[in-house]
Amino acid sequence: MKTLENLYRQIIMDHYKNPKNKGLVDDPKYHTVHIKNPSCGDDITIQTNVTDHHVTGVRHEGSGCSICCSSASVLSTIMIGKTVEDAIYMTDHYLKMVANQPYDETIEFEDAIAYQGVRQFPARIKCASIAWQAFKQSIKGKE
Ligand code: ZN
Repeated sequence: MKTLENLYRQIIMDHYKNPKNKGLVDDPKYHTVHIKNPSCGDDITIQTNVTDHHVTGVRHEGSGCSICCSSASVLSTIMIGKTVEDAIYMTDHYLKMVANQPYDETIEFEDAIAYQGVRQFPARIKCASIAWQAFKQSIKGKE
């Protein structure tokens, strides 16, 4: 039987094994933010390019657990093409969702909904958050 939980685990493992937009670029247009999560050994660098108030590029590189690395890949696929304003709004509510705080449930989170279950595991909240926090820092002030 295929439960929702299995489906979410599948999304996470697919992005962990076959990450999208992985690898940093040597391009001065990209803004780079690096965050570490000492409790788990996660180490993530996010690069973003913003053109005309839109996110036009997201790259990521790093090492860590499956939750952390896969969430960077998911983030990159979702955010490219969004306005900076929409991207920040979604990031804020994603961070609330994984931290088990009230969030805007009308948002179409696409594959990022797979991390909803993280809120049951407080030790993993940071794993699911750092790529998104780095992303938000990298595009802040560019709207
Ligand atoms: Zn982790």
